[in-house]
Amino acid sequence: PHPTPAAPCLDQQKLATALSGLHFIGGRYVPARSGKSFAVVNPATGEEVARAAEGDAQDVDAAVQDAARAQKEWAKMPARKRGALVHQCAALLKEHAEELARLIALETGKALRTESRVEAGVVADVFEFFGGLGGELKGESVPFAPNVLSVTVREPLGVVGAIIPWNVPMLLMALKVAPALVAGNTVVVKSAEEAPLAVLRICELMNRVLPPGCFNMLSGMGPECGAPLVEHKLVKKVTFTGSVETGKIVAKAAAEKIVPVTLELGGKSPMIVFADCDFAKTVQGALTSMRFTRQGQSCTAASRIYVERPVFDQFVEEMRKAVDAMVMGDPLDEKTDIGTIISPGQFEKVQAFIEEGKKTAGAVAHECSALPKDQALKKGLFLRPVIFTGLTRDSRLVQEEIFGPVTVIQPFDDPEAVLAEANDSEYGLAASLWTNNLKVGLDLAHRLEAGLVQINQNLVVQANLSYGGVKSSGLGKEASLEAMLEHFTHKKTIMVNMG
Ligand code: NAD
Repeated sequence: PHPTPAAPCLDQQKLATALSGLHFIGGRYVPARSGKSFAVVNPATGEEVARAAEGDAQDVDAAVQDAARAQKEWAKMPARKRGALVHQCAALLKEHAEELARLIALETGKALRTESRVEAGVVADVFEFFGGLGGELKGESVPFAPNVLSVTVREPLGVVGAIIPWNVPMLLMALKVAPALVAGNTVVVKSAEEAPLAVLRICELMNRVLPPGCFNMLSGMGPECGAPLVEHKLVKKVTFTGSVETGKIVAKAAAEKIVPVTLELGGKSPMIVFADCDFAKTVQGALTSMRFTRQGQSCTAASRIYVERPVFDQFVEEMRKAVDAMVMGDPLDEKTDIGTIISPGQFEKVQAFIEEGKKTAGAVAHECSALPKDQALKKGLFLRPVIFTGLTRDSRLVQEEIFGPVTVIQPFDDPEAVLAEANDSEYGLAASLWTNNLKVGLDLAHRLEAGLVQINQNLVVQANLSYGGVKSSGLGKEASLEAMLEHFTHKKTIMVNMG
C-alpha cells in the first residue's frame, strides 16, 4: 500500500505530509537508507511543509540495481506496447493535474493560475506524445554487397540517470523519462532538493501502469546523491538539466565512464524588437517570455531586450506599466499573477545583481509591482521585478544568467550591430525577433546563435519540436522523435553474409 491517496487530492499539505521523507525505488515508497532527511520549505511563507529523504550512494545503488533488473524485462516488451503504457500514464497525469499543480505551487512558490497549472498540463502532453512513438523505433536496410544483408536496429542504452532542477521539475522530468522509457530504458531520477514533492507524487501514478523498477526517484543533494548516480557503473546514459557549472561536473564524470550525456543548461536569451512590430503583442510577448509570473526563473527568459530606438522609451514605459499591473501574492490564490523566488540563496543572489545594477554609473532601475500586503506572507521570498536601462554590454547583468525577475532593455539603431550584441554571449539557448518585416526577421533568425529562434512569439515548448541550446547552453536535444532516437537508443548494425 502507498501512503498517498488513490483519488486526486486537492489538499496539497496533506499530500506533502504523506510524501514526507521518501524515495521511490522498485515500485515502492521507501525512506533513505541512512534515515536522514531535509526540509522542504514553502517559499511563500518560509514554513517547512515536508521532509525529503536525503539520498546517498547506498540509495543510488539500490535504485540503479532495481532499474537494471527491471530493464531486462522492459526491453523485451514490444516497443508499441511500452508506448501504450506510457500513453496510459498521460491519462492519469491529466486526472491528477490539479493536484500536481497545487503541490508544485506549494513547494516552488510558482503561481497556481499562471504557472503551475500550465506545467501540470504540459507534463501529460509530453507523456501522450512520446507514448505514441513506440512504432518509430525502427532501423533501416542498407545496400552493401549483393550477397550481404545489412540492417540497423535501434537498441535501448540500459539504465538512464536523470538529474533535474527546481524551476519546472515535472516538465523536465517528463521530457527525460517518457522518451527513455518508450525506447526501452529504465530510469533513476534525482530530483532537485528544493522541489522533490510533485515529481515524487507522479511516481505512484506511473507505478499504477508501469512494471516496478522501471521508474525510480531519489531526492538528495547534488554531490551526495546526484554525483553517485552519474558515476554508477550500471548507469549507461546521463541526462541533465541545470546550471552550466554543474553541467560541466556531470559531463566530466560521464566522460570518465565513456557514457553519452545530454545537457540542458542556462541561458541569457536576447529579444530583438523592431519599430515595425505589432507593439501590444510584443510587450505581451516580453512579459510572458520573461516569465515574471515565475519570478524570471526560466532558462529561456528574455533577459536581454534590444529595442529599436524610435520605440525604445514607449516600450520601456509599456513594460513597466504591464508588470506593475500584475498581482504578487500567495501562489495558491487564484488572483495571484506573480509568485516567489525559490530559496533564500537564490533570493540573495538576485538581490546582489539588482544592487550591483543600481550602483552602475548611468544605469536606471525601474522597480515594478508592490509586494504582497498579507501579513502571513511577510517571510515569503517575494521580490519586485526590476527593468534596467542604461547598462553597457560588458555589465554582469547583461552577460550573466540572473535567474530572477530582472531584465535589461537597451536601444539599438542598426540590425547588424544588434545581431553582434545578441551573439556576444557565452549562452545560446533561445532568442526572439519581433518585426513585420519577415525578410529581415528570417535573415537574423539564421544568424542568431541559439538553439531556438522565434519570430513574433515567445517560447512555446512542444513535445514534438526539438529543443536544446548551443554554446554553453547545452549539448544534445530534448523533445521530438529525433531526440528519443538519438539520445535514448544506439544504432546497432547487423550484417549477414548469405554467400
Ligand atoms: P543546479 O545545477 O544547481 O542543480 C541542478 C541539479 O543538479 C539539482 O538536482 C542538483 O542537486 C544537481 N547537482 C548539483 N551538483 C551536482 C553534482 N556534483 N553532481 C550531480 N548532480 C548535481 O541548477 P539549479 O539551480 O537547480 O537550476 C537552475 C539552472 O537550470 C539555471 O542555470 C537554468 O538556466 C537551468 N535550466 C535549464 C533548462 C534548459 O532546458 N536548458 C531548463 C530549466 C533550467
